[in-house]
Amino acid sequence: MRLGSMLRRRAGPLYRHYVEPRLQLAVRGRPQFDVSTIKTFAGYRQSLAEIRETHQRWLRSEWLAGEPGQSQLRGYCAVCAAWTRFSLDYGLGSEVEGRSVPWWRETVTCPSCRLNSRMRLSVHLLERHLTPGPASRIYLTEHTTALFSRLATRFPQTVGSEFLRDGTVAGRVNAAGIRHEDLTALTFGDASFEFVVSLEVLEHVPDYKTALRECGRVLRPGGTLLLTAPFHGGEQNLVRARMDQHGEIEHIEPPEYHGDPLSSAGCLCFYHFGWELLDDLRSAGFRDVGGVMCWSRDLGYLGENLFQLVARR
Ligand SMILES: [Zn+2]
Repeated sequence: MRLGSMLRRRAGPLYRHYVEPRLQLAVRGRPQFDVSTIKTFAGYRQSLAEIRETHQRWLRSEWLAGEPGQSQLRGYCAVCAAWTRFSLDYGLGSEVEGRSVPWWRETVTCPSCRLNSRMRLSVHLLERHLTPGPASRIYLTEHTTALFSRLATRFPQTVGSEFLRDGTVAGRVNAAGIRHEDLTALTFGDASFEFVVSLEVLEHVPDYKTALRECGRVLRPGGTLLLTAPFHGGEQNLVRARMDQHGEIEHIEPPEYHGDPLSSAGCLCFYHFGWELLDDLRSAGFRDVGGVMCWSRDLGYLGENLFQLVARR
């Protein structure tokens, strides 16, 4: 019997969570992580086509050739710096050749840090490429999440907030210690932060252009915005819904609700963004606006749409 399987049986979860990932790290090393920043729509379309091809090739040669309904995928979590077994959720998945395939962007979740592929890539980019220091002031536009816990542990000056609907005054915290902020009217002073990290929030803000200007205002000159939102691969932003002058919602596309940590009803998605969002960022006063694309089997960055935007104030 191999030593590994003997130990796994003896020590159970302890072995799986603490010993094996480190053993694997020693044996298999750390996967390469190559990132290039894309500045033009043509460059974006080319990267998208390359990633699509790589992903489809892997899907057909490895994934669809394997056991149906696999609930785990071995890989390296760059946030935890360890080899692990990512968990797979088929909730938002699709069917390819009669087989269930996960919506990769929102799963491939690490059992230790509890972050899915999209969030792991954001943290990886932030820590490895944008490199905040331990004393950097970071504003994260969420608070009740595993992502906030992760960033606040490593960067103690992280401030998180939620868009509360419990009557809490903006800039104050509720009984649960959660701060309320409206992204279109932040209570922070000008140039308060070195980093603003906003993941999957902007598409829920009807007046997103004001939200972008606010992100710029609270960043100090030279500060960095890391942003993700649904991105459809085309040029123009797609307006799915809008708010009229009386505050009534008008649906243009079939309503799409995303998971909301504070409400089981979910949160209405007003936009799927296109390349136009990069122009919106420039109009909001940002410079060096670019996108980062990534696909890595070993790092568990799968699927075709892990696009992340980086902009400097
Ligand atoms: Zn992890």
